[in-house]
Amino acid sequence: MDVWTHDRWRFPLPGGHRFPFDKYALLRERLVADGVARPEEVHEAEPAPWEWLAAVHDAGLLERIRHGRLGAREQRGLGLPWSEALVERGRRSVGGTVAAARMALERGLGMNLGGGTHHAGRAFARGYCLFNDVAVALWRLRGEGRVRRSLVVDCDVHQGDGTADLLGPDPDCFTLSLHGARNYPFQRIASDLDVDIASGTGDDRYLSALAEALDHTLPRARADLAFYLAGADPWEGDRLGRLKLTKAGLRARDELVLDRLLDEGIAVCVVLAGGYAEDVRDTVDINAATAVEVARRTGAL
Ligand SMILES: [Zn+2]
Repeated sequence: MDVWTHDRWRFPLPGGHRFPFDKYALLRERLVADGVARPEEVHEAEPAPWEWLAAVHDAGLLERIRHGRLGAREQRGLGLPWSEALVERGRRSVGGTVAAARMALERGLGMNLGGGTHHAGRAFARGYCLFNDVAVALWRLRGEGRVRRSLVVDCDVHQGDGTADLLGPDPDCFTLSLHGARNYPFQRIASDLDVDIASGTGDDRYLSALAEALDHTLPRARADLAFYLAGADPWEGDRLGRLKLTKAGLRARDELVLDRLLDEGIAVCVVLAGGYAEDVRDTVDINAATAVEVARRTGAL
């Protein structure tokens, strides 16, 4: 199946930083090796033009990001040191989600091997998230008249505060976030539905909470297009998450979300969001399993 990546665009990071650079290239290699995507189906994402970013983000914030003038507090909140390469990669991450969402509308499913930068809000960039790829993609496709109603299913272990800031008040977009109750961010911005999951929750209770949340959400969303943030960080071995899902449980999560959305006739754009396992190969396993479930439903596998 077709996928988008921006793994060649790296940026300088201090040693020991938790940002999982290697997962992106390893995941691409894994998908090609396993026949999930042929080499020619792996597309390098184009950088999103600044005008697209300006459609959803505050002009002052974008100026500071573009010219490396983030304040000390903003810089700390972002958690990644500014560089031109960081900005270029961030724009390409957005470009990948726009392309994958377009593919979703054409064929029912699309996947970006990145994106899901859900802590970026209208006037803030934090938690490793520079721009909100989902909000930009949605703005773009709405502008083309291709989407009326939309839905965000955010299953990253961290609450989607930036997405809630941008899309929570939007009457034509339903935002659902399932996250660790005691995980970052500690000051929340309300989604249309937030589901706090207790620390230590395992597969069964998580999956029943997810099914219940989807039961509540789908009739209200009546969406044409959904963005699914398939975060790998609810995994039991994750360094930042506080939940205890197994790899099999995460795979069941992906199947549940994909099947419920597709059964409703909703096009689905899948993005990666977070994943901070000690050994990056565990995160890659989880992301690769998500891609396999997507590929199976496109008929590519
Ligand atoms: Zn996360």
